[in-house]
Amino acid sequence: QILSHSSPNPSSPLSFARAFSSATTPIRATLFPGDGIGPEIAESVKQVFQAAEVPIEWEEHYVGDQIDPRTQSFLTWESLESVRRNGVGLKGPMATPIGKGHRSLNLTLRKELNLYANVRPCYSLPGYKTRYDNVNLITIRENTEGEYSGLEHQVVRGVVESLKIITRQASLRVAEYAFHYAKTHGRERVSAIHKANIMQKTDGLFLKCCREVAEKYPEITYEEVVIDNCCMMLVKNPALFDVLVMPNLYGDIISDLCAGLIGGLGLTPSCNIGEGGIALAEAVHGSAPDIAGKNMANPTALLLSSVSMLRHLKLHDKADRIQDAILNTIAEGKFRTADLGGTSTTTDFTKAICDHL
Ligand code: NAD
Repeated sequence: QILSHSSPNPSSPLSFARAFSSATTPIRATLFPGDGIGPEIAESVKQVFQAAEVPIEWEEHYVGDQIDPRTQSFLTWESLESVRRNGVGLKGPMATPIGKGHRSLNLTLRKELNLYANVRPCYSLPGYKTRYDNVNLITIRENTEGEYSGLEHQVVRGVVESLKIITRQASLRVAEYAFHYAKTHGRERVSAIHKANIMQKTDGLFLKCCREVAEKYPEITYEEVVIDNCCMMLVKNPALFDVLVMPNLYGDIISDLCAGLIGGLGLTPSCNIGEGGIALAEAVHGSAPDIAGKNMANPTALLLSSVSMLRHLKLHDKADRIQDAILNTIAEGKFRTADLGGTSTTTDFTKAICDHL
């Protein structure tokens, strides 16, 4: 059952077309190694793919050292074109300097590629003990608006204003994705997470859209949970939840909370889904500057993200093989990185996964 959880994308014409072509020619996919630990964990993915003979040819793109006027960020136009052309990609974490004033790289990618849903599976790993052994949920985060609209300004000296944008179109789109995901992945319940008692207009509209979509899926149980209560319930009994759908900022926070339930940010993958079947997979975590360059990072989150990219391409045999090798290596316990209480380097852990293929 776990295997299907990392298959975030309902079938898209693009995936089928690529699957058919995969038998003969390699599939091109965009790779952003990213910042901090990004290049180290991207190297793990490349090594595991090579060992598993995955027919992917990477088109590597790096963040530029000056602002590209066409993207208004350090991301080059060519790198965005590469994702558009290939339809799939894998992204390492990208650092966002706090308060420096230029457009966030992550926001640029999400906006320019219209990556409207971010799917974050989170499940207890067999053989790795945490307080819970029954976590099995999917956070679906609206990815294009909310507090992340980038509309902030100073009203007068000492007073700033930040606008939260919620639209009917984006809310319906992500709700539809969540219900469709639940239906096609054997899930039974969708919980809309909100704070509509305070954010009456914005979260109120988000909920109204979720209710509208829920009516089209009578086989899926629908509920609404206030975000503060949701946090308490998740920590007390995560098995209460199945698929959670929510506005952007809440999804960012709740998914880190969920990562904490199963062993931390080194473990949780995600996949950004865009219009027209684009899929850009990435770990939930950031660039981890505190451990960058030390060969200490856990590559599991990015590896599991790459597995979701393979599922998007319908390369399920390769996806299963790699996912099993990762989970078996962790379960066996001989090779684990420091975040999981082990002493293995990123390189040793990666080699152990290759040996388990
Ligand atoms: P972070 O996720 O980078 O790190 C939080 C903690 O988790 C750190 O102690 C780190 O060492 C640990 N950690 C994260 N990933 C790990 C891994 N794979 N293995 C072992 N330990 C891991 O969060 P942060 O420090 O708040 O952010 C650092 C930078 O990353 C910031 O610039 C932030 O904006 C950016 N960021 C980017 C993304 C993204 O690209 N999608 C997501 C979150 C944060």
